Amino acid sequence: MMPTLPGRPAFGYTSGVTASRGSSSNDQPLIGAHVGSSGGLSRAVGRALDIGANCFQIFVSAPQQWRLPSHPDGEVEAFCSQFEQSGIHAFYIHAIYLLNPAGPDAELRRKSVESVREYLRWANRLCASGVIVHLGSSAGTTPEEAHSNLCASLSEALQDAGDVPLLLETSAGTRNSMGSTFSALGSILRTLRAGRQVAVCLDTAHVWAAGYDVATPEGLDRTLEEFDREIGLDQLVLIHANDSKVELGGARDRHEDIPKGQIGVEGWRTLLAHPRLRRLPWVMETPGLGKPESAAAQVRAMCALWRGEEVEQPE
Ligand SMILES: [Zn+2]
Ligand SMILES: [Zn+2]
Repeated sequence: MMPTLPGRPAFGYTSGVTASRGSSSNDQPLIGAHVGSSGGLSRAVGRALDIGANCFQIFVSAPQQWRLPSHPDGEVEAFCSQFEQSGIHAFYIHAIYLLNPAGPDAELRRKSVESVREYLRWANRLCASGVIVHLGSSAGTTPEEAHSNLCASLSEALQDAGDVPLLLETSAGTRNSMGSTFSALGSILRTLRAGRQVAVCLDTAHVWAAGYDVATPEGLDRTLEEFDREIGLDQLVLIHANDSKVELGGARDRHEDIPKGQIGVEGWRTLLAHPRLRRLPWVMETPGLGKPESAAAQVRAMCALWRGEEVEQPE
């Protein structure tokens, strides 16, 4: 049994400013990115600081492998103390990509449950603010069966899981993908009845590809009204801030740097200004993040757009 530190409160459950620590205030956006943790978990904190992020996301094991996370105690302590001293507001852990908690293959579901359970354990130990999961695919079964598989798998993974919430990520609406409509997500949440143990991560590129216009003021209002009706906006605790290479409703998952994609400068201005979204943490997963200059430039652009300042149009 791993020693567990008390969980950091997740964003979104408190009213008003989502300050779980320190100085988050009305003039401070929460903007960050996925950062690498190669060379040790604690390296991620410095990488986030280097690009000017005040929130971030990591993997705690290789996302394309089933091998469960394993980190020496010293690395865990180094991570926690660096995070504590960093002034960074929150970090999130993204589950591996191989999961399919919804599919017809029982062995794959078992491994998915084991992986999510282990990720939640690590999230509690590291004091993360949430574990983000993709909901998998219904390929090879019926939508009803996939729904019941998914809910059974997640319920099992959540048993005795501690305080850190599981964040269900909106999908891009590719064939058979689970969770591409707010109504489907709402129905999953209602079946799970897991209270604060489960919330939602909205990926802007995914919902855009799934047909939700988030780039115009009217479209975004309609989108959030539907979210509120089907899921409840109080369940929205994190945004994956990604521009999209595909057109609205393109049903493919192709991230683009901010603001160079189809959502574009005015779309990002609209998103970042929205009163229901403005105080949430925005974590990017864009292709240019691999280059520190590009990552820092995207953080700066997001901050400028959040403040309503001008940004240079990308070439
Ligand atoms: Zn994701
Ligand atoms: Zn994606």
